[in-house]
Amino acid sequence: MMQSTAVIPTESPVKSLPDILGVPMQQVPQCAGCSQHILDKFILKVLDRHWHSKCLKCADCQAPLADKCFSRAGNVYCKDDFFKTKKKGTDQI
Ligand SMILES: [Zn+2]
Ligand SMILES: [Zn+2]
Repeated sequence: MMQSTAVIPTESPVKSLPDILGVPMQQVPQCAGCSQHILDKFILKVLDRHWHSKCLKCADCQAPLADKCFSRAGNVYCKDDFFKTKKKGTDQI
């Protein structure tokens, strides 16, 4: 039960939009959820990947996970689904 990988998304302030537009697009972080460049003021960093705050959702129920999430096998889950999925026997940690 305590082996869960709880991840607290880190909100990193990004340069303001006018600054970012002067930066080569390759340096703008790409969202791991929608694959778009992140031009938001804040980006979430989870699992060494960047996410729009609106794109960080439970892989199962799509609940927004801006506060806390659980990761497994490269996917992020809400607490409920994290433990639910575990019971299905697909544990890959
Ligand atoms: Zn996104
Ligand atoms: Zn969920």
